[in-house]
Amino acid sequence: MNKLAQLDQRYVWHPFTQMRDWLRREPIVIASGKGAVLRDVKGLEYLDANSSIWTNLHGHQHPKINAALTRQLKKIAHSSALGFANEPASLLAERLVKIANCQLPIANLNQAHGRPKNWKLAMANCKLEKVFFSDDGSTALEVALKLAYEFTRRTRKPVGRASARAVEPKFLSLVGAYHGDTIGAVSLGHVDLFHKAYGGMLFATDKVMSPYCYRCPFNKAKPERADARKYRKCNWECVGLVEQKFVAQKKRGNPYAGFVFEPLMQGAAGMIPQPSDWLAQVTQIARAHGALLIADEVMTGFGRTGSAAATAAVRRALAPIGQADDEGVVEYDRGGRAPQSLFACHHENVSPDFLCVAKGLTGGYLPMAATLTTQKVFNAFLGEYEEFKTFFHGHSFTGNQLGAAAALASLDLLATKTSVLQRARLQKLLHDELQTLWALPHVGDIRQVGLVAGVELVKDWRTRAPYALRERAGIRVCEAMAKRGVLTRPVGNVIVLMPPYCTTRTQLQKMVSALAAGVAESF
Ligand code: PMP
Repeated sequence: MNKLAQLDQRYVWHPFTQMRDWLRREPIVIASGKGAVLRDVKGLEYLDANSSIWTNLHGHQHPKINAALTRQLKKIAHSSALGFANEPASLLAERLVKIANCQLPIANLNQAHGRPKNWKLAMANCKLEKVFFSDDGSTALEVALKLAYEFTRRTRKPVGRASARAVEPKFLSLVGAYHGDTIGAVSLGHVDLFHKAYGGMLFATDKVMSPYCYRCPFNKAKPERADARKYRKCNWECVGLVEQKFVAQKKRGNPYAGFVFEPLMQGAAGMIPQPSDWLAQVTQIARAHGALLIADEVMTGFGRTGSAAATAAVRRALAPIGQADDEGVVEYDRGGRAPQSLFACHHENVSPDFLCVAKGLTGGYLPMAATLTTQKVFNAFLGEYEEFKTFFHGHSFTGNQLGAAAALASLDLLATKTSVLQRARLQKLLHDELQTLWALPHVGDIRQVGLVAGVELVKDWRTRAPYALRERAGIRVCEAMAKRGVLTRPVGNVIVLMPPYCTTRTQLQKMVSALAAGVAESF
């Protein structure tokens, strides 16, 4: 066995891993990466088909990010944000605020489902103006949660005779929610397999049904060879349940302080996408009941869910007249809005009070996260020193210069025409390639949102019969894919494809054909 593999097995405890299984075979030891390719210590090459657990955007060893890091290294790697500002963090905060407030034109608002027509509420006064840096997705959520909790306690009007501060702010999140592994984030989570064991350590949050069209009890449609969102037969019962939840909580005299959600697609729940308009509807309901919107874009941010306006941007970029070179930066319009949005919320014109980002923030290079919020929330923490209204929260590496430098370089790349075009092409290609998988009887559902896809494995697509977790269906397929030079990790019985944006046509075809071969070999 390779020496490094031996050391790993002797000393390292891996996340979300049954270490007994791990110790049974020699692990792949990654030595380097370039673009979408990872290379191990033996010189074998693999495609990084889940972008190194959903973090990488532009590929490994990107020359522009590498150069930005080298430049920053020559200045300083880290100094504390407790007491000092620094150059890249200040610049990054400004950039994040700019892109977070980019709204798409109000076009796709759907008021056909008897929802309140007060969509303006969803957009009202939610300009994200302040950035709190932290280290990873979990801490970004912890920050949002603590801020929302204390903001509510400080600003809520008393209901009945009870003083507002005496009533604990309550949060609502979704069935299948996963927001990280720290205690606050776990409290918001509702994946029993991960979270149940820690129940005694957690604070109570409520959960409400999230749309999972493929397995929805309200969906009357028989299985078809198409994304279940497209052929579902229902009456938006899932939205009705959200409304009921908010109404019931209001009746208890303690309306929800916050509604926490992964917009457009729930990742760790099994790559579960929301049908178009669900997000707009439920956030309108939440707003109408006075809840703060907490958007977890840890997985979905930075172009991962594609761009509603990408087609327009692509058309513009392809226009023959006065074409800028391929590296030309996509211009902002006069209102400072980019022609395409980098966040899932914007697809449905949702303007949250908290936007949590991590993973792809640095292009997947370094652990860094940010929680963006409004001036209103910020103001609730202002006061004289001795009032101690300070937000008492922080991490040693908050606002780290290397992370911020990588993030700035990554945002520059995302704004190039090359990247906008490449992402749009890759999204289309992914869609086309995935269609080939419908031929497999053990593929029940294929769900794609932008540049993320989940392929749900089933015993028989006609009955949707699931594999029991102990059958390790997802793991087996991923092992078979690894033998074919493609690395990804399943969530339960769902195989995830999340290619880095630099993935070529040939590489993408290889990812999908390895998946097909893996399924054929495993069952
Ligand atoms: N939120 C979401 C939506 C995630 O997918 C994850 C990680 N998979 C997290 C939060 C937690 O992020 P981290 O692992 O960086 O703490």
